[in-house]
Amino acid sequence: FFVVFEGGEGAGKSTQSVKLAAWLKLRGYEAVLTREPGATDIGMRIRSLVLDAKNGDGTRASAPVPRAEALLFAADRAQHVEKVIRPALERGAVVVSDRYIDSSIAYQGSGRELGKDDVAWVSNWATGGLKPDLTVLLDVDPAQGLHRAKAGGEGDRLEQERLEYHERVRETFLALAAAEPRRYLVVPAGGTPDEIAATVREAVAERLDI
Ligand code: C5P
Repeated sequence: FFVVFEGGEGAGKSTQSVKLAAWLKLRGYEAVLTREPGATDIGMRIRSLVLDAKNGDGTRASAPVPRAEALLFAADRAQHVEKVIRPALERGAVVVSDRYIDSSIAYQGSGRELGKDDVAWVSNWATGGLKPDLTVLLDVDPAQGLHRAKAGGEGDRLEQERLEYHERVRETFLALAAAEPRRYLVVPAGGTPDEIAATVREAVAERLDI
């Protein structure tokens, strides 16, 4: 069983993926908690290539161009699927991933305006078509989410993108969820972390039939 958390900056994905994995372990499952970008050695290098590509003055002139960024994230995902996700699923583990294909469709497809269909195609090729059984979209208003993420110390990097970029990202996540309502759970980020975790557990329990 493969569960993915998606959402914009400051949506609480990492908090919720940790909580879900801990609960699954309590219920006796092997839960593999993982994330993108950066779950493998190569992935960590790709993560810093894309995300730390700052000049001394804080600008990102040395960052990859949008198409290169999309391909680097796809390469990270190919490595992630083949080295971490598929082997875990094959031995019967539940995989909980913080981000997956939808992040590429939203950030590179819509945010960077490379086109959702093209980016989806590249990602599907990279993963050999592996889809999550459940995607939990933690929906947060970008202005609020950015405020939270900056408080968490990611200010410099996030300053680089305008609010409209993050609005496009959010709209795309919501559109992906609306297109496949049975495979998505959309949770507004308004609740407390424990309330959100309970909603997520309920959806997972129903699908695992426990
Ligand atoms: O999930 P996390 O916050 O660690 O992701 C790091 C950053 O990578 C995020 O700020 C997000 O904007 C960016 N990202 C991206 N495209 C992806 C995945 C992540 O721009 N496909």
